[in-house]
Amino acid sequence: MNPRSGWIQEFWRIVVLIAIAWAAGSILDQVYLFLLLALLAYSFRNLYNLRRLSNWLGNPQFSDIPIHFGLWGDIYSTIARVSLRQSEREKRLTALLNEYTASTSALPDGAVALDSRRRIRWFNEAASRLLGLQPAKDVGQPLLNLFRNPEMVEFIRRADYADTLEISAPGNVDRKLEVRLAPYGDEQILLLAQDITERLRHERMRKDFVANVSHELRTPLTVIGGFIENLQVSEGQADGRLKRPLVVMAQQTARMRQIVEDLLLLARLESDSARTAKKEIDMAWMVGAVTLECRTLGVDVPSIEGKSSSTRRVIGDEKQLRSVVTNLVVNAVNHTPTEGMVTVKWRDQGEESLLEVIDTGEGIGPEHIPRLTERFYRVDAGRSRERGGTGLGLAIVKHILQHHDSRLEIQSRLGEGSRFVCRFVSSRLVD
Ligand code: ADP
Repeated sequence: MNPRSGWIQEFWRIVVLIAIAWAAGSILDQVYLFLLLALLAYSFRNLYNLRRLSNWLGNPQFSDIPIHFGLWGDIYSTIARVSLRQSEREKRLTALLNEYTASTSALPDGAVALDSRRRIRWFNEAASRLLGLQPAKDVGQPLLNLFRNPEMVEFIRRADYADTLEISAPGNVDRKLEVRLAPYGDEQILLLAQDITERLRHERMRKDFVANVSHELRTPLTVIGGFIENLQVSEGQADGRLKRPLVVMAQQTARMRQIVEDLLLLARLESDSARTAKKEIDMAWMVGAVTLECRTLGVDVPSIEGKSSSTRRVIGDEKQLRSVVTNLVVNAVNHTPTEGMVTVKWRDQGEESLLEVIDTGEGIGPEHIPRLTERFYRVDAGRSRERGGTGLGLAIVKHILQHHDSRLEIQSRLGEGSRFVCRFVSSRLVD
């Protein structure tokens, strides 16, 4: 109904009422009394309608909406329209909420929503299963009241969104979880827990496989290498037709032995960080020793200079740290022309100390830099093989530095040279 028509009807109703009261009052010479009676009748009618409205609002059923005409009819029909719209919106929201709950329940990963005070607001079914949360008991509880694991407590407090944490599932040490945090809304956090038990099992199988294969190859390669050496000696005394093939066989066997040794070293580094010795290593001395050694690598090596301005020593494993310096310097030598320059520095930078290996060699394209520490990644596999490279050197360097709580940074420009920096943290340094 047009809302204006209700007003017009109401207006005419009042006019007619006043007119009747006036006419009756005039006939009986009681105009004021009849006008008062008309006003009372009109007020009682409105009071009655207000009561009906109030009753209906107490239990608003769309089917029971009072039927009326005029202004009251307008009011009822507007309420009917609004309540219909409201109930449709409610239905839509309920359907959306059901769909949302169903989809989060289907998620294989646990999700727990935390408020700004780290209290649990909500979690899905996987979170109940993986983290042992109970909807009736745990919603509204501070998360840290439920997880006493010190690593988890520190992880939640730190709230570093780039970091992940590996923990055993509460009440099941065999199940491993990877936990990460994601911020959302106003200081709220979503905690995500993924079951990584299977992934870790496959990872362990892969590592064991590589370690076992490498170990099994060691003995046959030593035997083959020994026979080749013997053959080289006897061939030297004979007519020398096999000399060249034997040289190539010896080179390739040496390369395979190097790959096997590197793979075994990587496997050891991955499996047991506790075995890393903790001695005070004089890095300045090591820089001098390795540069001296590398100058004797051949006649066509570039100039190599060692510059140590720091006297700090690194707490760590001498063999491993020597392997870091040697790998980086040998790489620099291999990728720098004879007329170029390789500089090895050991210096302090504030609380940290840096081991830098800088060369003026061929440099590395920016697309390769993020992948250099992957196993077997080589910019030019053919040339690396020619030079006796295994593609494992920088992977070993990265792992050893991780064992020393330190990291490798690589800067390079094609045609200008490279700078490899090992950044040692203060907790690993002694003056
Ligand atoms: P490789 O045994 O091939 O040297 P690494 O893991 O030590 O294996 O190095 C990976 C690749 O990184 C190398 O193949 C080479 O292409 C590149 N690289 C390493 N150091 C340098 C450097 N100083 N200059 C240019 N390229 C380098």
